[in-house]
Amino acid sequence: MSAPETMRVLIIGAGYAGATTAVRLAGRCRGRVEVTVVNPRPTFVNRLRLHHIATGQRVAGAGLRDLLGAGVGFVQGHVAELDPGAGRAVVAGPDGSRDVPFDRVVIATGSTTQAPPVPGGEYVHAVGDLAAAQRLRPVFAALPEGAHVSVVGGGFTGLETVAELAERRPDVRLRLVTSGEVGGWFTPRAAEHVRATLDRLGVESLGGTRVRAVEPDRLLLDDGRAVPSVLTVWCGGFAAPPLARDAGIAVDDQGAVLTDSALRSVSHPTVLAVGDAGHAPGPGGERYSMSCQAAFPSAAQAADVLRAEVLGLGPGDGYAPFDLGFVARCVSLGGRAAVLQRTDHNDVARGRAWTGRAALAAKWVQLRGVPRTIGAERRLPGAIRWPHSAPVLPRDARSVAG
Ligand SMILES: Cc1cc2nc3c(=O)[nH]c(=O)nc-3n(C[C@H](O)[C@H](O)[C@H](O)COP(=O)(O)OP(=O)(O)OC[C@H]3O[C@@H](n4cnc5c(N)ncnc54)[C@H](O)[C@@H]3O)c2cc1C
Repeated sequence: MSAPETMRVLIIGAGYAGATTAVRLAGRCRGRVEVTVVNPRPTFVNRLRLHHIATGQRVAGAGLRDLLGAGVGFVQGHVAELDPGAGRAVVAGPDGSRDVPFDRVVIATGSTTQAPPVPGGEYVHAVGDLAAAQRLRPVFAALPEGAHVSVVGGGFTGLETVAELAERRPDVRLRLVTSGEVGGWFTPRAAEHVRATLDRLGVESLGGTRVRAVEPDRLLLDDGRAVPSVLTVWCGGFAAPPLARDAGIAVDDQGAVLTDSALRSVSHPTVLAVGDAGHAPGPGGERYSMSCQAAFPSAAQAADVLRAEVLGLGPGDGYAPFDLGFVARCVSLGGRAAVLQRTDHNDVARGRAWTGRAALAAKWVQLRGVPRTIGAERRLPGAIRWPHSAPVLPRDARSVAG
């Protein structure tokens, strides 16, 4: 696999990871790469705010052409077919289909809510992608007073969504159903704060129980109970879209591309994968959690790997094997409460947790800072840096994806 004089790099998806790879690569290799980004919409979707969209809040989206800048080509559309061997993608866009040739492709297609693994999946709503959040919005707004609503899943998305829904509609009856302990992926004091906040918002928490089936007006639980639910929002975890699997690229159970520590596909070396769509070996042997914390560094790494290739640099010169150490996680609980929790490098909750104004301020910075980080990388290519991992500690709490 030799590098062409001018490398054509196709980036599929312009979320956090795809947009960051594009601006870093284009900015650091002017004249040596042609970077093209394909994304279904011309505006950036800040996925961290999809539960805000579902509850009818106005969330402005930056224009992608401005965000990516003049050094990156933009094609509006959806990659419907990918042939890594032939170096060709078929893009279905508003003006029909077209072929886009490439020398290297970066899969940055993110993730959506995993289909519920129980009967009745057709009755659930979700907030994992923009279309789902937009479908949920009018349904939630039209609920009559006293309606029973369930959110299933106690990770990032489930906690943030149930709190937001409860805060917006105190007249409906919210319930959180999760197989683990509610807030069990925080340290005990922070978990207590999570449970107390949900309680204050009027959310009934059902931890340690699984949903066995979804019906139009109730949930059947594995402990034999049936609870009323005219609206069920499924937040049970994310999976990558089927594009890579359909192209014959080696993927994991969630459809994410299996990569080495240079973020190259283990089955197709011209393919790299970043963000939620990539499965790189993490410090503990498991994949890095699907998160912004992994999306930005993995994107920067992929750009550096491709830059090293086109400039003829070896791994030691242009990049090191991918190594990311997590530092903290920040979860909002409606607009008036949040938790900022320190973690070890392996994304396990440890040490101090902040609540109150400090946590709210951190969440505000995170929500507003995402598009700004991409803009900053475009203006100062190479600006994104990330902490590396320490020796792996034994796990005493679960890390969280979704
Ligand atoms: C409600 C909610 C709250 C969250 N809260 C947090 C949080 O607090 N902290 C945290 O770290 N993470 C959080 N996450 C997770 C975080 O949003 C994801 O980990 C992050 O978005 C991953 O970034 P990405 O660039 O890989 O994917 P995405 O941001 O999903 O971007 C993928 C892009 O690819 C496009 N695409 C997909 N398929 C194709 C195709 N075939 N052709 C062209 N384009 C395609 C999509 O349209 C999208 O624009 C949250 C997620 C949700 C939904």
